[in-house]
Amino acid sequence: MLLITGGAGYIGSHTVHYLINLGYNPNDIIVFDNLQYGHPENVPATVTLIRGDLTNRAEIEEVFSANAIDEVIHFAAYAYVGESMTNPYKYFSSNITGGLNLLEAMKDYGCKRIVFSSSCSVYGIPKKLPITEDEEINPINPYGETKAILEKILRWYDNIFGIKYVSLRYFNASGAGFDIGESHDPETHLIPLAMRTLFDSRYKLQVFGGDYHTRDGFCIRDYVHVLDLADAHFRALNYLRTGDQSIALNLGSEQGISVREIIGIIEQVSGKPVRFEVTERRMGDPQELVASSILAADCLGWKPQRDIYEIIKSAYQWHKSTYRG
Ligand code: UDP
Repeated sequence: MLLITGGAGYIGSHTVHYLINLGYNPNDIIVFDNLQYGHPENVPATVTLIRGDLTNRAEIEEVFSANAIDEVIHFAAYAYVGESMTNPYKYFSSNITGGLNLLEAMKDYGCKRIVFSSSCSVYGIPKKLPITEDEEINPINPYGETKAILEKILRWYDNIFGIKYVSLRYFNASGAGFDIGESHDPETHLIPLAMRTLFDSRYKLQVFGGDYHTRDGFCIRDYVHVLDLADAHFRALNYLRTGDQSIALNLGSEQGISVREIIGIIEQVSGKPVRFEVTERRMGDPQELVASSILAADCLGWKPQRDIYEIIKSAYQWHKSTYRG
């Protein structure tokens, strides 16, 4: 039985659908989600959805006591970088306690394999590009710190209890599949906010800084299609089943795209102008984040299959179909 925490969230629900599409039996999947930000309607009706919170140890222990869980994908976590700078307690208490309670339940019930949602934010400001996994771990916000701490905790649970893990350090998850798109409340991410300008005539995108030392002055990020991320989880589960050693892997496309270039591609794909104004830099924004994904290719045979045009096309289709203005 596979337990997916946070399986009603953006990357989580895409992964659930993706696994079922590849032939996973929905009866062998349990989604555990507190539904604070997750969308229950995005979890297939054939999958058991348990509403529960990892910070409540009894709730997660109960899931393990009632089901023979032999592997876990752990998505559930607070994930707003900006909020983590104003309310670090929320991030440290919930993300760390939640992860620990999950690992304790795994230990108590002999579950030995976990795929963990980590993030490129563990690196902070990288010293060299593209970023390889041996880059210094030096987060610049509490959100990234919680991911870095959990990666360390995982190392100890492997060391002491033999729980094997794959930490997947996502770069910028984006795009849409299975009629599910990127929709957070509040929304803080570039692509959905730029899309909003196409459908809401009162909304203007604020571009955070146009004076970076990059090719066009705008921040550069590495965008990965959410279905390619889902595919990496499938591969990571297989990797762990073959008994290989625990590892942390970058998941990026190795292509840096600037904020201005994203706007240009959205305009090209939609045929409409994106309204924007360039404002102050956002605190804590690294100038450029681009992954080397050589290790993921070596260990998992993973390579992203969808480029930035497919990302933007799928996002545009989804926003168009869901807009009710
Ligand atoms: N960004 C922006 N305006 C927004 C949201 C984001 O200019 O309203 C920029 C942000 O500064 C960064 C890039 O878009 O350079 C991607 O930001 P996002 O929040 O989507 O992801 P992050 O890289 O912070 O995880």
